[in-house]
Amino acid sequence: TPPSGSARPRLTFLGTGYLGATYAICYAELGYEVLGVDVDEQKIAGLASGVVPFHEPGLDELLRRNLAAGRLRFSTDYQDAAEFGDVHFICVGTPQRADGMGADLTYVESSVVNLAQHLTRKALIVGKSTVPVGTAEWIEQLVGKHAAPELGVEVAWSPEFLQEGFAVEDVLRPNRIVVGVKSDWSNGLLYAAHKGVFDLAATEDREVPLVITDFSTAELVKVAANAFLATKISFINAMAEVCEVAGGDVTQLARAIGYDPRIGNRFLQAGVGFGGGCLPKDIRAFQARAQELGAGEALRFLHEVDLINLRRRTRVLNLAAELLGRRSGPAGPDLSGARIAVLGATFKPNSDDIRDAPSLAVAGLLLKAGADVRVYDPEGMDNAKKAAPDLTYEPTLNDAVRDADLVCVLTEWADFRNADPIAVGELVAGKKVIDGRNCLDPALWSQAGWVYRGMGRP
Ligand code: NAD
Repeated sequence: TPPSGSARPRLTFLGTGYLGATYAICYAELGYEVLGVDVDEQKIAGLASGVVPFHEPGLDELLRRNLAAGRLRFSTDYQDAAEFGDVHFICVGTPQRADGMGADLTYVESSVVNLAQHLTRKALIVGKSTVPVGTAEWIEQLVGKHAAPELGVEVAWSPEFLQEGFAVEDVLRPNRIVVGVKSDWSNGLLYAAHKGVFDLAATEDREVPLVITDFSTAELVKVAANAFLATKISFINAMAEVCEVAGGDVTQLARAIGYDPRIGNRFLQAGVGFGGGCLPKDIRAFQARAQELGAGEALRFLHEVDLINLRRRTRVLNLAAELLGRRSGPAGPDLSGARIAVLGATFKPNSDDIRDAPSLAVAGLLLKAGADVRVYDPEGMDNAKKAAPDLTYEPTLNDAVRDADLVCVLTEWADFRNADPIAVGELVAGKKVIDGRNCLDPALWSQAGWVYRGMGRP
């Protein structure tokens, strides 16, 4: 039975970024009473007035509906959180440390300490942020130090697999739920905290697999999943590199190997590589943690995965030089005087997230090589302007491509995939296109007079 005595525990989500805000809103939608907590006053004020601070399809409407229904509140006050919640989910950021390797756990620490200090009754603290294995045990120690011992506050772990752009669906209809627990009490309470998801699945004649395990496994599941996905992308990008010198077509290769169900065709698109706030930092932090634990050798291949990924960015730069007939010096190619349109700033479509986006990294390389770079993105402009203020941004696709000597499509937004090569061709100075996501139809663009170059394609 939930400690509050209600059929459903009351939930708090500590940290209302992409992860926490989506969760808070979706779990209110599932019928829970929810409090979202963040230290960012502006973010909390926005959410409380019905504004989602990032772009995620479908989330605005759910936010407004659940605010109106009175099931959802937002606060910056940890005392409020401690009084309200039966189950507290830690959703704060765990960015890459300044030294490059390892995860920065200072936000996790401050959220746990803040909460623990204010607790006046037994509660469950559940980690959701992506962390190095061993963090749950450390949080137990923090709670032991900062919460009154007689309360018997417990800790559990439940890693998160949502994908930005599909986050609402992923939270309401996850393909699995993983929990790391130490007691029947925490197991039961965590089940109650997820019952809305299981109930929804039952009404839709689906099942959501539930994996109940220990702390270490639960923590490792997340980083292992991300390591696998990163490896799959770098594998096909490595094949793209080979295709580029051998004259093969990696898109056909991927299709052909993907028919084997042991391989599968998803996440097998060669391109400018992965980015975002998760995969790059998570594979680095995973290596650093394995090293600390004495298993560094086991994950040495992830270093190679990272290098393959970063080489895709230089590949676009070199391809641009080739297409523009520029020679490469010791400092790389000189692109001065060339006007280049960069289409895409986010790390993937249907998101406004520009964290470690390959598109912006490539735009930066082109700029550094002397090009006049014009960037356009349907949703990521505000974030991109803050993160990369030295780039020039254009308000529309047409403005970005106007008078360009070269067009680079670096995020596969539908607007770009569906762009008409004839219409775009009328605006540019030179009909040359680099399709960094292999998302355009080469035949269509070639027929319209474009010199087309994809990734790993002849
Ligand atoms: P984010 O940067 O969007 O959000 C983090 C939020 O935490 C910010 O709003 C920040 O103000 C807040 N915060 C910092 N310190 C706080 C404190 N002491 N108390 C309350 N709030 C505090 O990050 P995100 O993308 O939501 O990621 C959060 C975690 O979830 C990370 O560990 C990430 O790896 C993991 N994750 C993210 C995704 C994703 O798709 N974004 C998916 C799965 C897991």
